[in-house]
Amino acid sequence: MSEYPLAALASSPTRIPSHVPVGNDLNGRLQIGEGTVTVMAGPCSVEGRDMLLETAHAVRASGAVMLRGGAFKPRSSPYAFRGLGQEGLDLLAEARASSGLPIVTEVVDARQLESVMAVADMLQVGARNMQNFALLAALGEVDRPVLLKRGLSATLKELLLAAEYIMAHGNARVVLCERGIRTFETATRNTLDLSAIPVLKLETHLPVIVDPSHAAGRADIIAPLAVAAIAAGADGLLVEVHPDPATALSDGPQSLTPLQFEALMTAIAPIAALTGRTLTRPECLRAGSHSRQAAAPRQASSTAVPA
Ligand code: PEP
Ligand code: MN
Repeated sequence: MSEYPLAALASSPTRIPSHVPVGNDLNGRLQIGEGTVTVMAGPCSVEGRDMLLETAHAVRASGAVMLRGGAFKPRSSPYAFRGLGQEGLDLLAEARASSGLPIVTEVVDARQLESVMAVADMLQVGARNMQNFALLAALGEVDRPVLLKRGLSATLKELLLAAEYIMAHGNARVVLCERGIRTFETATRNTLDLSAIPVLKLETHLPVIVDPSHAAGRADIIAPLAVAAIAAGADGLLVEVHPDPATALSDGPQSLTPLQFEALMTAIAPIAALTGRTLTRPECLRAGSHSRQAAAPRQASSTAVPA
């Protein structure tokens, strides 16, 4: 028997990759998985109202279908900015209503689950928590999809076993995320393990997305890594975008400007089509309450982006 019978591809009776639905009737429904490419984007940390709303509308205008922003940040240093906490969650709720984008945000501690679930359409488990088994078990008991990031030094088998923890506790809606692993290389923050994508596709029916931002640690190579991830079969991307990366309170060097994100979306579209996938479009979501704002960044930037 497989060590991860619920996550294994062989365990699905039809051996067909599964789709993970995200969202509800209020903000529309997405299906993450085979045949589609789902792009989530947003700032590493929610830093304030203006930057969050500006980013939300800009990434939606460029084609992102989920807003990612952290209210609780796991930081390597206890002295680094660790997020706005509840205030950040309140701002995410406002951005959700305003942009119409479903929210994915990190939960670092099971004690925060109730407050995070009040706003999150999807719960992120960060790399540093991939083997926090108490947290994984708690996430198995909630009715919300989980985005499970690969640990910094975790093998693919360990990632699959972490997914199995969540599934064994009752929650089958798990999406895996390759976000780079620790190697001897110093030119990048981590090393994007592209082989994780086809290997996971052979092992599991769960969708696999790629976070090129934390893999690279630098904005100037995010787009080619994103293109490569889609070409290798990733079911989506998680990309950090900030209106002014130079002033970001976390992960500024790897954050794209909205204009750079628009160029990335333009670059991945033909690759998704070439590999027979449909890029999920924001039109499948409900419009936000201030959706007219969404047109502004696109018009302002469309002439400036190189073809
Ligand atoms: C993040 O998504 O901002 C983050 C902290 O990522 P990771 O857990 O992959 O380091
Ligand atoms: Mn980050």
